[in-house]
Amino acid sequence: MHLITGKTKLLGVIGDPIEHSLSPVMHNEALAHLNLDYVYVAFPIKPSHLATALAGFEAIDLVGFNITIPHKQAIMPLLSEINPVAQMVGAVNTVWRSPSGWQGTNTDVLGFISPLKELNKDWHKINPVILGNGGAARAVVTGCFQLGCGIIKIVGRNLSKLEQFKQSWKDEKLRNSIVIHHVQELSELVGETELLVNTTPVGMYPHVEETPVSEIVMKKLQPGAIAYDLIYTPNPTRFLKLAQQQGAIVIDGLPMLVNQGAAALEIWIQQTPPIEIMTQSLARYLSNK
Ligand code: NAP
Repeated sequence: MHLITGKTKLLGVIGDPIEHSLSPVMHNEALAHLNLDYVYVAFPIKPSHLATALAGFEAIDLVGFNITIPHKQAIMPLLSEINPVAQMVGAVNTVWRSPSGWQGTNTDVLGFISPLKELNKDWHKINPVILGNGGAARAVVTGCFQLGCGIIKIVGRNLSKLEQFKQSWKDEKLRNSIVIHHVQELSELVGETELLVNTTPVGMYPHVEETPVSEIVMKKLQPGAIAYDLIYTPNPTRFLKLAQQQGAIVIDGLPMLVNQGAAALEIWIQQTPPIEIMTQSLARYLSNK
């Protein structure tokens, strides 16, 4: 067991609520594996306490932290530097200390594209279909854009929210690569795409029988297309099971979760993180829950 002493350095994650976060599990296991004297803790921070928390973190010399709902955008004006990828997404999920103050990035983008990069695809020929237009969709859209995908089709149930989502992108090239579609058009879109991504919570535990794409529409998915669900409980989701029946390549939400965490850890500890250990720790934890 890791002995916590007066020299132990502190990392963490902030959110509201935060008790369901899986980050402490994978980070503490990775730190123990690397024999590093750090501890990673979940901090419940109410939105009205965000600035106070940041000042407190500075006072106690916290090395860095992750940020989850609802602080990913609210933290931005409180940081001294935000790197280009986080600027593009419009949200920060990882912060670290530098001599000039707190710096922020967004490792969700790298987390999302990590399992895709292992597949050798001509991304510029692929027009992804993305279900949902919330926070996670922002990292997914940025990731697809970074991969060099063609038209990025965003599907949602509320046209005015979809239009707001499109217009919210500051990068003109990215904004122009987005086309919005009402969910009623899904049937046609599913049959045409080689990359279908679910960023909605539909199908997440305990609603495991739900799927963002009906069984009938899923039958249109081309064999060899990629079906990617950001959800990691259950694993696989009904959406991924239906995709697998069509002969699709399926990717669940665990690699994204692990890779965004690994990218953050690398910034803080300046060492290559043990991705396999992090994956195993989460798979074990989730299977025992
Ligand atoms: P969010 O900001 O609340 O966005 C959810 C999106 O899903 C919204 O566009 C919402 O549509 C849509 N939606 C919600 N319920 C729906 C329904 N019944 N039918 C159709 N659309 C629906 O949430 P988020 O932060 O993006 O997270 C979304 C999912 O991604 C969650 O399951 C989360 O666990 C997962 N996630 C995974 C990772 C990972 O590392 N694997 C990272 C981030 C998030 P409206 O705008 O119309 O309400």
